[in-house]
Amino acid sequence: MGKERSLEGFIGGIEKLPTLPGVAIKILEAVQREEVKIDEISDIISMDPPLSAKVLKLVNSSFYNLPTKITTVLHSIKMLGISTVKNIALSFSLVNNYQSTKSSGFDYTSFWKNSLVGAVAANLLTEKLNPELLDNAFFMGLLQNIGSLTFGHCMPSQYDLVLAEMETSNLEDQDAEACILGYNHQEIGEYLMKSWGLPETLYAPVGYHHNPENLASTQSSILALTRILHLSSLFIELFDDKSKGLNLWLINRNVEAYGFGDRIDVSQIAEEIHQQTRQVFPIFEIGLEDDADYAQIFKAAKEELSKLSAEMVNTLMAQKNEIKMLKQQVVRDSMTHLNNHQHFLNLLSQEVSRAERYKHPLSLIMADIDLFKAINDNFGHLAGDRVIKTVAGTLQQEIRDSDHVARYGGEEFAVILPDTQIQDAYIVAERIREAIESLRIKHEDNLIQFTMSFGMASFQIEEGSTPGELIKRADRALYQAKNQGRNQCCVFGKS
Ligand code: GH3
Ligand code: MG
Ligand code: MG
Repeated sequence: MGKERSLEGFIGGIEKLPTLPGVAIKILEAVQREEVKIDEISDIISMDPPLSAKVLKLVNSSFYNLPTKITTVLHSIKMLGISTVKNIALSFSLVNNYQSTKSSGFDYTSFWKNSLVGAVAANLLTEKLNPELLDNAFFMGLLQNIGSLTFGHCMPSQYDLVLAEMETSNLEDQDAEACILGYNHQEIGEYLMKSWGLPETLYAPVGYHHNPENLASTQSSILALTRILHLSSLFIELFDDKSKGLNLWLINRNVEAYGFGDRIDVSQIAEEIHQQTRQVFPIFEIGLEDDADYAQIFKAAKEELSKLSAEMVNTLMAQKNEIKMLKQQVVRDSMTHLNNHQHFLNLLSQEVSRAERYKHPLSLIMADIDLFKAINDNFGHLAGDRVIKTVAGTLQQEIRDSDHVARYGGEEFAVILPDTQIQDAYIVAERIREAIESLRIKHEDNLIQFTMSFGMASFQIEEGSTPGELIKRADRALYQAKNQGRNQCCVFGKS
C-alpha cells in the first residue's frame, strides 16, 4: 500500500544520507564492470596507504589464518579473492568514515563494536552453514544496522527520542524506531544499500534480519543469508543486552527452527566470536580497554538460562511480545503528540475504505515547512523543534474534530479531511497557511517567522485510487507549491 513510495519520501527528507567514501565508490565501480581486473582493485586500495595497511593487517591476522605472510594487496586478492578483499576494504572505509561524535546520544563506538560482533558472527555461521556464500558474510554482518547509524547520524534529535523510548519501554531497536519514526533500520538499511548499488544478496538479508519470515525472496542463498543474519543479530543482543538467559534461549530456539542444530554448536560459536573479535577490534581501532569479556558473558547467559524454567521463558517471551503489541498501538508522535506516520497510514486507509463504501468525498493535504533547514542553522535545533511543535498546535487549532492531523516526517505534516471536497480542502489549507505566516515565535532575542507550502489531492473513486496514490498526488502538488516559490497551496492536477 504505497509504503514503498512513502519510504522514498521519508528518505528523501533525510539530510546528508550516509555516502560511501570515495575509495569505496571506486572499488564498487570497478567490481561492477563487466571484466574485473585484479590489478585495478589492488591499485585502488594501494593508493590509500592507511587503508591498505589495515587490509594487510586483517588478512595476516589469525582471523584468516593464511599459511603465508601477505605483503601486498595484490597478493591478498590472489589468496582470498576479489570479493573478500573488496568487502574488507569497504568495511574499513565505512567504519573509518562514521566515527565522529556528535552532540547526540548516538554512540558510534558501541555501534561499531556491536556491528563487528555481528560481522564476525555472520562470517563464522556462514563458514559452517554455507561456505559457498562466505564472500559477503562479514560485510553483510557489519552493515546489518546501518539504518540505525543513518538515523543517529542524520536525525540526531529524533533518534534521541528513539533511544529514550528503548530505555523506558524496553523495546527492541527496530520496534522503537518504527514507533517513533515510522520506519525501522531494516527498511532504511535495505534502501540505502540498494542505492549504493550493492547486490540483493547483501541488501535483502539486511532488510529482514529481525523477521526472516517476512522475506519475499525465494532465492535459497538469500534465505540462508537472512537466517544467518538473524542469528548474528541475536548474538549481538546476547552480548549487549540485559536479558542474557532469554537471548540465549532465542538463539537456541532459532538454531533448531532453522534446522542448523546438527551443524553448529552455539557454545563453540560464542567462544569463537570471543576469540575473533579480539583479533578484529584492534585492527578496526575500536577501543578494547573497557571491553566486556564475551566468553564471560556467555557463561553468565548459560547459567541464567539454566535457572529459567520453560514456564518462566514463556512468561518472559509473552511479556516481551505484549510490550511490543502495546507499543505498536502507540499512535502519537512523542514530540508533537500528533498522529505518527504509521498511524496516519492506518487512518488514511480506513478513511479511503469509508469514502469508497459511502461514496463520500475525501481530501488529503500534505504540508512542509519552507526552508526549515535555515531555521535550524540560524537558531539551532532546539528552536527548530519549537517551530515544529508550534506548527503542530496551529494545525490542530485550524481543523475540525473529524479531521486527522499527523506528523508525516521531520517537518512534514499531513491532514486527512473526510467528507471534504477539494475546494473546501483548499480553503482549509489557505487558512492554515495564513495562520502560519502570521506566527512569530520568540527565541532568545529573536522573533522567528516562517512559512509553509501545501499540496492537496482528493480521493477519486472512479479512478479506483489507493491511499498510496492519494499520498503521491498530494505530494506532487506540494512539490509544485515549492517549485512555484513556496508559501502557497496547490491542488493536484491544477496549475
Ligand atoms: P524546503 O522549503 O524545500 O522544504 O526547504 P527545507 O529547508 O525545509 O528543506 P528540507 O525539507 O530538506 O529540510 C528539512 C530539515 O528539517 C532537515 C532536517 O535536519 C530538519 N529536521 C527534520 N526533523 C527535525 C526535527 O525534529 N527537529 C529539528 N530541529 N529539525 C528537524
Ligand atoms: Mg538490526
Ligand atoms: Mg521543508
